[in-house]
Amino acid sequence: MDHPYLQRRYLLSFESRRLPHIFTDVLIVGGGVAGLRAAIEAANAGAQVIVTTKARLAESNSYYAQGGLAAVLDAADDIERHVADTLAAGAGTSDEAVVRHVIAGAPACVRELADWGVRFDREGGDLSLGREGGHTANRIIHANGDATGKALVEAMIERARAAANVKIFEECFVVDLLTDPPAGGGAVCVGAITFHPRYGLQIIRARRTILAAGGAGVLWRETTNPSIATADGIAMAFRAGAAVADVEMMQFHPTVLYVAGATRSLISEAVRGEGGILVDRHGKRIMDGVHAMGDLAPRDVVSRAILERMVETGSTHVFLDVRHLGAEAFAKRFPQIDRRCREFGIDPGRDAIPVHPAAHYMIGGAKVDMNGQTSVAGLLACGEAACTGLHGANRLASNSLTEALVFGRRCGQAAAAAGDDDRLAAAKIDWTNPRSERTQLDLADIRNSLRSILWRNVGIARRGERLAETLEIIQFWGRYVLDKEFFDPAGWEIQNMLTSAYLLTEAALRRTETRGVHYRSDFPDTDPVWARHQVMRRTEYQLVVE
Ligand SMILES: Cc1cc2nc3c(=O)[nH]c(=O)nc-3n(C[C@H](O)[C@H](O)[C@H](O)COP(=O)(O)OP(=O)(O)OC[C@H]3O[C@@H](n4cnc5c(N)ncnc54)[C@H](O)[C@@H]3O)c2cc1C
Repeated sequence: MDHPYLQRRYLLSFESRRLPHIFTDVLIVGGGVAGLRAAIEAANAGAQVIVTTKARLAESNSYYAQGGLAAVLDAADDIERHVADTLAAGAGTSDEAVVRHVIAGAPACVRELADWGVRFDREGGDLSLGREGGHTANRIIHANGDATGKALVEAMIERARAAANVKIFEECFVVDLLTDPPAGGGAVCVGAITFHPRYGLQIIRARRTILAAGGAGVLWRETTNPSIATADGIAMAFRAGAAVADVEMMQFHPTVLYVAGATRSLISEAVRGEGGILVDRHGKRIMDGVHAMGDLAPRDVVSRAILERMVETGSTHVFLDVRHLGAEAFAKRFPQIDRRCREFGIDPGRDAIPVHPAAHYMIGGAKVDMNGQTSVAGLLACGEAACTGLHGANRLASNSLTEALVFGRRCGQAAAAAGDDDRLAAAKIDWTNPRSERTQLDLADIRNSLRSILWRNVGIARRGERLAETLEIIQFWGRYVLDKEFFDPAGWEIQNMLTSAYLLTEAALRRTETRGVHYRSDFPDTDPVWARHQVMRRTEYQLVVE
């Protein structure tokens, strides 16, 4: 069967006995908040831990997180309210047990981070609690204004580095998860094949592997995500036979600084929480009459309203007006955003900020249970690479860092508790891909074209014919790219991007309704029949969708 995305179990041919081996108890793919939290926990429990990151440690979605993390820490707020807000945003497909688990665990995560040295912002001695879209109470905890992610990551790196039993391998690209046998129902994850520019290909054998490889924003032309977010986690989990869920659910952030030709920078939702107002080029308010929560409506509602107004007014962007907040107050609360605006000659005290939506948060990922266990034995997942069921069809702002911490901890515990099974015994694993007879396409061209087509056809507003067309094009590219073997991360990344694009476009085409972040202009209503997750996995040569 000539299906480009189902043919190859591994991106590379290899003979395990010819590759150098490293042995560890727990291998963690990814050094963002989820991976680092898991590493700290597993190390505390006495496990030997290796964390790999494909770029420098600071290059992660976590590092760039701005608004903060959601937790109930105010006497005027309560857990039930946070649960209700999360379920409301999730549009009928959040898993309530997971929602309760994460939200109840959030305050302890904040206290723990404070103990590790994170200095959360305070007002008059009390924690300063911000508000973001979809929250009915002030519960967003932040550090250094809008540099929350950096503060968290730096404190966690320090903590992880201080543990003698944690090794961090930076710029060590995980090409594929290793399973024994390579495919089939009984496959067990026994580590990964990695590539490091200095050491080449290696095998890291682990009793347990935790996938914490982050998001997928780079698949879309407009994104808030840094360049590492190429959906490697979804693609490698899928190749390893793990079930992935909800991959059609990509959340678009309504407000990214729009300066033609410049890289996109997020303008945190917290700016609207502090009173920022969305207006069109004529100064007319965009959210008036659209939603009861106005400018703080859930992100999908705001993104769609912006897109519609851009079309109506023939503009490439709209504006976020913060002039009434005062230049000084704005710079104090949002120092990074203020600096970024000024770099482009925009003075937030004088000028409305040009913004438009962009791909932001991948809700779907490797499907896991309450312990972070995937459908493949030996493989756990957490953070943006996982699908826990917390977010349902739409993520409530600032719930993702909270989820990464709660599930990172849980995965670390579960992985370390696995004990001394015999998974490190070096069973020989070999894999041979057939040689490609097809011509070589230009990878940079495919990458750009893929990002453009997903932005246009699998973006904020989707339609059946366009999704079907896109799927056809992705299949075509796949035939020329997935049949090759590459020997550097640029090639593996585009193979992963195409694989994930195939899965999410297929899922978006199948979901013939509108729900949460998934808006179908040809099916604008929510259909109760679809109040469920779409779970996809591969058998040897078949895509199974449940
Ligand atoms: C600009 C921005 C602002 C945000 N603001 C907020 C916010 O205020 N509040 C909130 O809750 N959420 C926010 N989010 C979302 C949140 O930051 C992420 O969902 C969360 O940090 C994900 O953490 P993670 O550990 O799962 O992944 P990441 O932090 O993205 O880490 C992924 C890691 O995986 C590694 N990796 C990936 N592929 C491979 C591979 N093939 N081999 C080896 N390593 C690999 C990367 O190198 C990296 O270390 C924001 C996101 C962005 C982009």
